[in-house]
Amino acid sequence: MVAASILNSPHLKNVRLDLRSLHPQVITWRRQIHQYPELGFEETLTAQFIAEKLESWGIDYQANIAKTGIVATIQGDRQRDRPGKVLAIRADMDALPIQEQNDLDYRSQHPGKMHACGHDGHVAIALGTACYLASHRHTFNGTVKIIFQPAEEGPGGAKPMIEAGVLQNPQVDAIIGLHLWQQLPLGTVGVRSGPLMAAVETFRCTVLGRGGHGAIPQQTVDSIVVATQIVNALQTIVARNIDPIDSAVVTVGEFHAGTACNVIADTARLSGTIRYFNPKYADYFHPRLEQLIAGVCGMHGATYDLSYEKFYPPVINDETIADLVRQIAQTVVTETSLPNNLVTPHCQTMGGEDMSYFLQEVPGCYFFLGSANADRGLTFAHHHPQFNIDETALALGMEIFIQCVEKILTGV
Ligand SMILES: [Zn+2]
Ligand SMILES: [Zn+2]
Repeated sequence: MVAASILNSPHLKNVRLDLRSLHPQVITWRRQIHQYPELGFEETLTAQFIAEKLESWGIDYQANIAKTGIVATIQGDRQRDRPGKVLAIRADMDALPIQEQNDLDYRSQHPGKMHACGHDGHVAIALGTACYLASHRHTFNGTVKIIFQPAEEGPGGAKPMIEAGVLQNPQVDAIIGLHLWQQLPLGTVGVRSGPLMAAVETFRCTVLGRGGHGAIPQQTVDSIVVATQIVNALQTIVARNIDPIDSAVVTVGEFHAGTACNVIADTARLSGTIRYFNPKYADYFHPRLEQLIAGVCGMHGATYDLSYEKFYPPVINDETIADLVRQIAQTVVTETSLPNNLVTPHCQTMGGEDMSYFLQEVPGCYFFLGSANADRGLTFAHHHPQFNIDETALALGMEIFIQCVEKILTGV
């Protein structure tokens, strides 16, 4: 059903024939993975599926890295006498705790779990790339490592994979990766050097006041009054402390206090998230937040409990590699008949990604591959129960990855 239409799709004019022929299979793999979504560090069926495919193509791999991660190694033999460089391609594998609401024949068979971020597509693109490279080893020199990473949605599989040594033996020189992206239409690729995605930090704060009768405030320390002033004070961090040239967000997402209209609340609980691009703020927000909370509490005779957690650092792309990916993406999308065939640098987001840990270790580029298609109703955002992608993007992703392999490893 998919085969003929995809093979002859005018949208894929700049995708080589071998990949267009592989595309229907890649779609089948994506749908198979989509049917059996697994949460972070539980991706055993997905890992098994990947391992079986790699084995059938004679590709060396190591499994069970950081629980369910897999690293495949494909050696090129264009110039046997030269060891060549090592390029890594990263694909995340995990799904989300969401009940799918799509009416598809390949919808999720695991209740309460869904590939609602497109990681099923990432695995399929990476497998397609591996399959192609294994049968075209003569086209590149050096080594390609394909990293299938668990638990991107949390608690994070990139860091434990790096700690397990996936960037060594052989040492990775550069890394690339992509995210299928519903904020961009099919045919558009988002590539930029420097910061692409934000650092993610979170906090929880309990304001400890002294409760009492709603009509006798003079005997209490009203935790709600104190906590509301904290919420306001926190707004000054972005407005008054951060360089206006830099972007940052402080969001208080939870505020819980009180039990009755005539009772002054003993405690109030707040939680929130902090996002920023510039790594110079890595040690800034926690102490500044605490200073403001302590100041406001001190002013009113309240105390507080604060817990602060740093999740992912910002995703920062290398200029040279991002330039190369931009040129490649431009070639791939130009001359497609898609109405939005362009490469845009306007794709920064305050969302977070643990691809950042890889990019802290080696230079590379993470980019966004447009997958929305309004004509087909494929416009639901990531993490929505009706999220779905235009699978034409899978072929574009493979072509970009393979050209990166050919150009980065062959030094073209
Ligand atoms: Zn996600
Ligand atoms: Zn994602």
